[in-house]
Amino acid sequence: MEPRLCKECEKPLKGRADQKFCDDYCRNAYNNRQNADANNLVRNINNMLRRNRRILEGCIKAGEEMGKVQRQKLLQAGFDFTYHTHIYTNKKGQQYAFVYEYGWLALDEGWCLVVKRSAKD
Ligand SMILES: [Zn+2]
Repeated sequence: MEPRLCKECEKPLKGRADQKFCDDYCRNAYNNRQNADANNLVRNINNMLRRNRRILEGCIKAGEEMGKVQRQKLLQAGFDFTYHTHIYTNKKGQQYAFVYEYGWLALDEGWCLVVKRSAKD
């Protein structure tokens, strides 16, 4: 039988069969780290979404409903195409990736159409 090891410090455990940690110290250290990792992940994704939203927002001129921008320009501004909040497919089957109220659609020759969802949608 393999020795059971503490999930935090990986020392062999000698207690009950369901023991996972040497003591409370190891248990707390482990749980705190797990929570910190989850919080970091959520924070990083939220930051990414916020940045993407700000970049798309900047692609639409004041008073206009949509704008066009080169995909390369978005990348240069730090846009990350991986991160969006939802997908919208229109009747023509075109897929827009939305970051909150701003969406983009890939067009020909590296262009992206950027739209803003109006309140009535
Ligand atoms: Zn331990």
